[in-house]
Amino acid sequence: MEVRTRFAPSPTGYLHVGGARTAIFNWLFARRFKGKFILRIEDTDQERSTDESTNAILEGMRWLGMDWDEGPFFQAKRVDIYNEHLERLIKEGKAFYCTCSPDELEAKRQKALSEGKKPKYDGKCRGNTKRPDVPAAVRFLSPNEGFTVVDDIVKGRVVVENSELDDLVIRRSDGWPTYNFCVVIDDATMKMTHVIRGDDHLNNTPRQIQMYEAFGYPVPKFGHVPMILGSDKTRLSKRHGATSVMAYREMGYLPEALFNYLVRLGWSHGDQEIFSRDQLIEVFDLENVGKSAGVFNPEKLLWLNAHYIKESANRKIGSLVTPFLEAKGFEPSRGPDLEKVVTTLRERAKTLLEMADFAEFYYREDLIYDENASAKFLKPESASVLEALVARLQDISDAEFNHDGIEKAFRDITEEKGLKLKDLAQPVRVALTGSAISPGIFEVIEVLGKGRSLKRLQKAVDLISSKS
Ligand code: GLU
Repeated sequence: MEVRTRFAPSPTGYLHVGGARTAIFNWLFARRFKGKFILRIEDTDQERSTDESTNAILEGMRWLGMDWDEGPFFQAKRVDIYNEHLERLIKEGKAFYCTCSPDELEAKRQKALSEGKKPKYDGKCRGNTKRPDVPAAVRFLSPNEGFTVVDDIVKGRVVVENSELDDLVIRRSDGWPTYNFCVVIDDATMKMTHVIRGDDHLNNTPRQIQMYEAFGYPVPKFGHVPMILGSDKTRLSKRHGATSVMAYREMGYLPEALFNYLVRLGWSHGDQEIFSRDQLIEVFDLENVGKSAGVFNPEKLLWLNAHYIKESANRKIGSLVTPFLEAKGFEPSRGPDLEKVVTTLRERAKTLLEMADFAEFYYREDLIYDENASAKFLKPESASVLEALVARLQDISDAEFNHDGIEKAFRDITEEKGLKLKDLAQPVRVALTGSAISPGIFEVIEVLGKGRSLKRLQKAVDLISSKS
């Protein structure tokens, strides 16, 4: 049988990393078994659902590289299908109209609570299968006896006594079918074979199984994945840092890194940490989803991001870092070759944002000098060595203006003047980058190019003479 999985977000906010992980598990499972992955937008809560949120979710899915084979389907457009199903249940006596007023239900609830009993709908309207003249809710007739069993792929067997379960409202008196009902009709009519979702839905599953059974629909396999927790072991929320997938993009993370990180958070394959997407498609399964909640670890995500930055081609990183530089007001096409810039920074930058920060000195017209670095290295006695370098670099032909040619120029000057390399390199570094810390100085000069390097060196010489 063809595997069919789905991701069914409610469009009431951005794509949360927890939701993204659920989507990833479903997507990988479908891809692994060459099945289908379906996207369904659960927008029956009309007050809280927005198009903006739907778009944000789709954008997050695309950014993470998850494609869907069918959909997106929108529940709000499927109300006729839900109503047809609902009529069928009423006709078969498996659902009924309920005219109990909210006040009446609340009074009964309070009474049960005051008697120390668990509040439960008392079945007053059971048997009402004729549509009343007044607006009425519709309830599912839940069996009083027996058990409902969930054989969960992740959690194992969960058994619930049917007497514990209420006659659930499946259509409110305002005419809108409710969440648990729509999910069942959708998953059944969309022929889902596996329902993989957060374990906050595990409570709903016995009720949902009762409804599949009432319709005679095959029950899919369920896998309830534990929630993601923050470092203090409470459910991951904004208090712990960014929870939106797109916020990670804005912070300069690569989708490969977040994807890899989220898969490993709650699933394992031995000790392996780094997986290509193709590898994941080969080995992902539900058996190795952990039973207990994973703790979100931002340092590990950062480590993975640094790994993927190092692994990716310069050209790719160059194009990804461009918008970050542009946001800082720089136009990379007007400065040194971005791919070469990336080569000098990729070992140090853990995010694209950090890389853009590091790259700033390459593109800045007016260099900003770090005060301490300038005081320490741009001193009167540095002027003559900088001038010597200017003269020496000017003599290098364009063909030899490369790492080796530049290194030789440094060596000639240090030998001639009896200096150590750092006596020359540090003033030059500050002159060219504004800081005492930078990538290798020969690379920096090569990437800046002759014209820019000479200009900056000369400017530092001028600065020194203006100071003295
Ligand atoms: N719409 C539900 C949610 O966003 C998901 C329901 C499901 O996966 O069954 O939590």
